[in-house]
Amino acid sequence: MTIEAGRLFVTWFRSGADGRDHAVTDERMSAARRAGGDPVAVCGAEVPPVPLVTPPGPRCHRCELCVAVRGTPPGVEARLRARPHRHRKPSRLRQLLTRLPIRSAAGT
Ligand SMILES: [Zn+2]
Repeated sequence: MTIEAGRLFVTWFRSGADGRDHAVTDERMSAARRAGGDPVAVCGAEVPPVPLVTPPGPRCHRCELCVAVRGTPPGVEARLRARPHRHRKPSRLRQLLTRLPIRSAAGT
């Protein structure tokens, strides 16, 4: 199961060393495949693979903490402080007004 946790994408793999499920990022998994070694979990443990038909086991607490910290959604206060995104295209009138040169009435 792949979980999106903020910007951290992890997959939980059962370790053949300690029998726990560890969170491995996609980047570390692909690096381990290229190098031919075991992937390193977000807690730092190497995760020797077990057959994928092995049912999920208990999760590593350090990995859970790492994923929880990285995956904490922004609070309501942070969302309220965030500037609203402008998705609307400027109106035709606004587009025309921004193209017109600005002249002061007192100078004419
Ligand atoms: Zn772990």
